[in-house]
Amino acid sequence: PVTVDQIAAGEVIERPASVVKELVENAIDAGASAVVVEIKEGGISYMRIADNGCGISREDVPAAFLRHSTSKIRTVDDLVHIGSLGFRGEALSSIAAVSQVELVTKTADQTFGTRYRIAGGKEEGIEDAGAKDGTTFIIRQLFYNTPARRKFLKTPMTEASHVGDLMTRMALSHPEVSFQFINNGQTKLHTAGNGKLRDVIYHVYGREIASNLLRAEYETSGLKITGFLGKPLISRGNRNFENYYINGRYVKSSIIAKAIEDGYKDFTMQHKYPFVVLHMEINTENIDVNVHPTKMELRFNRQQEVYNAVYAAVDEGLHREEL
Ligand code: ADP
Ligand code: MG
Repeated sequence: PVTVDQIAAGEVIERPASVVKELVENAIDAGASAVVVEIKEGGISYMRIADNGCGISREDVPAAFLRHSTSKIRTVDDLVHIGSLGFRGEALSSIAAVSQVELVTKTADQTFGTRYRIAGGKEEGIEDAGAKDGTTFIIRQLFYNTPARRKFLKTPMTEASHVGDLMTRMALSHPEVSFQFINNGQTKLHTAGNGKLRDVIYHVYGREIASNLLRAEYETSGLKITGFLGKPLISRGNRNFENYYINGRYVKSSIIAKAIEDGYKDFTMQHKYPFVVLHMEINTENIDVNVHPTKMELRFNRQQEVYNAVYAAVDEGLHREEL
């Protein structure tokens, strides 16, 4: 029999990277300053997500795995407004429905931590555990009980690269958090968490890009843009190097992409697309934002305003040097 949680899992959990995304977002919501993600076999057989956040107290653990047990805001329109990353309250229940989960967690005011096991949605035990403050999830055998879904997974290498891309985006959107990503025992990414976006860019993309950046800084009513613009000489062959985050969330928007590319129009570039990392703070009281829970494509009510602001941020940033 298929459970409601398994169906929900079908919407939230597509692959190992979706599990990592939900658990890393929870870690950030929990105030973690450091998050370690370790995977084996592309995450299919093993994922460990450890944070030093607030932890979950013993009495709250089982309820955290129930659907919609969250107190967080859940309406889609409030998502960006609230700034909190979690909004559905069904990540843990969905993950637990389609894998074997081990959780170790401890809050600062508890003497002992808690170890909790749940597999295929069935509780398997709760006990004391020695633990540091924070939360560690171990997820084993994703989709072990839903073979049809398991079949859709790609090779471990491809799945690992999805997780790697996700970790890159997490690191770029949260320079104040240290992220470590370990794939099959090898550390692939380890950011300092010192709050400096340029340092994260250096870690992720290396010296050539990090030493060819111009600063973007622009503010207008209800919209603030900060970040870095790659000099035209480090142009790229595809849009994968156009990174933009709205209120800490990775998004895709054809309007924003167009504004960025138009902003470079005064410059000759070898390739078609620029390198940028932009953080946008949008006050959704002024500019309404709609986003599908899992799709990352955004729609704005006042598109022209968003376009103008991004264009201006890029245009000004690129020309400032010459002044
Ligand atoms: P949501 O994030 O939408 O609330 P989740 O299913 O992702 O729903 O998580 C359920 C609840 O479990 C969270 O609201 C939070 O209270 C708790 N939780 C999950 N992960 C963590 C974590 N890493 N640290 C602290 N609390 C957590
Ligand atoms: Mg969540």
